Amino acid sequence: MMKTEAVIEPKSTLQPRSVEGRFRNAKTAILVFAYAVFFLLPWLRWERAVGPDQAVLFDIPGRRYYIFDLVMHAQDIFWLTALLFLAAVLLFFVTTLFGRVFCGYFCFQTLWTDAFRFFEKFIQGDRVARLRLDKQPWNAEKILKKGLTHLSWLALALWTGISFALYWGDAFELTTAFFTGTAPSAMYGTAIILMSTTYLTAGWAKEHVCLHMCPYSRFQSVMFDQDTVIVSYDAKRGEGSTGRVKPIKDMRDQQARQSAGHGDCVDCGLCVQVCPTGVDIRKGLQIGCIHCALCIDACDGIMDKQGWERGLIRYTSEHGLEGKKTKVLKLRTVGYGLATLLATIYLVWSIGNSKLLEVTAVQIRSPLFVQLSDGRIQNSFEVKVNNKSMEAGRYQLVIDNFPGAELELGQFSDIQLKPDSSIRILAKIRYTVPPDDTQKNREFQFRLTPLEGKVKESVIIPSHFITP
Ligand code: SF4
Ligand code: SF4
Repeated sequence: MMKTEAVIEPKSTLQPRSVEGRFRNAKTAILVFAYAVFFLLPWLRWERAVGPDQAVLFDIPGRRYYIFDLVMHAQDIFWLTALLFLAAVLLFFVTTLFGRVFCGYFCFQTLWTDAFRFFEKFIQGDRVARLRLDKQPWNAEKILKKGLTHLSWLALALWTGISFALYWGDAFELTTAFFTGTAPSAMYGTAIILMSTTYLTAGWAKEHVCLHMCPYSRFQSVMFDQDTVIVSYDAKRGEGSTGRVKPIKDMRDQQARQSAGHGDCVDCGLCVQVCPTGVDIRKGLQIGCIHCALCIDACDGIMDKQGWERGLIRYTSEHGLEGKKTKVLKLRTVGYGLATLLATIYLVWSIGNSKLLEVTAVQIRSPLFVQLSDGRIQNSFEVKVNNKSMEAGRYQLVIDNFPGAELELGQFSDIQLKPDSSIRILAKIRYTVPPDDTQKNREFQFRLTPLEGKVKESVIIPSHFITP
């Protein structure tokens, strides 16, 4: 059902016409929201008992990732895997229901190309003015307008690169350092790479990224079926039995058109002119269509002017166009929906139940045991206590199920930890083996009991004691 014909000349980018309407407003609102989040978030401050005062910060050297009150440690990295899985199944779920709605509204390429086109329109004017400017020879006006456009693109691209880098350190310090030439080279590298790719993809390549570079557009067609709700042209209504016709002479009246077998499409071409990827939706579903719905806005405007019912181009399924019922609950959609739900539940549960006190006890293996001068056998363990809470803690470490054994922790009578900090201590266990006892491996457990702090429950770590 999807055609793969080339829809534009790949030499140059399109000059789409701007359009007003509900979908354009929705896209603009999403763009403003996404930009506000991306550009302002690194500047937002957040009060914590310990750690930086930046609301969102990925502290690589400190191996901590701060997202408001959530502090992720290196060992919580599987949350990222769960998040990526959730994003993938959510994308599949939404695609089976509404086609490429992600491409049309939320994709970075769409958002940044849209912003670049706003600048272009502001400086050079709308489609007709831009086409005229493109055709005219290079003169002062063209140099000035084109130059300003590229400068604005470069400025936004640079700020995009810098903003991304600000998530990895203190935003205020990094910005000052960046402009005074004292920032880490990684920041300059990141900002410049991101600036270049943003400028090239959103400024120069624009729709070619969606048409020729994006892998998602290639495999999404397998997720569509006749019940997927996508931007569609109602060919039956638009073409009638004798095709579309312009509203000239006696073809202005809807009834007269219908009597002559013509449909409601007045062949104004506006739906094609506003399309950011140059698709003529009247030719059916095509690989270039990113389902941004701007052609719906354009066509609705024409229908309003004619005084006819909106919806010649609309969101509907292939079955909907045929007058049949759109079946929302399909096996594939339910499957993706279920996977999305389970991944969300797991992620929320896992974050909500993450341990604030982690303890490990690793036996020192070289040597596994030593015999002391008094005949006792000694095993050594490296015990790591990690207080992940934002409160200081005091703990007592003891051993259970090991009568006659003695635990020695050096200078530690109890273990005191600051908020969000950890400690490694050497624990030595000494034991006099009864003469008739041939058991080589004794199971016991360490028990860490909180005396003060946020965590109240003891942590048990099973271990074993080796004898010759
Ligand atoms: S905007 Fe509507 S009326 Fe105009 S050409 Fe497109 S489908 Fe036809
Ligand atoms: S055909 Fe319509 S929905 Fe598809 S990309 Fe073009 S304007 Fe957007």
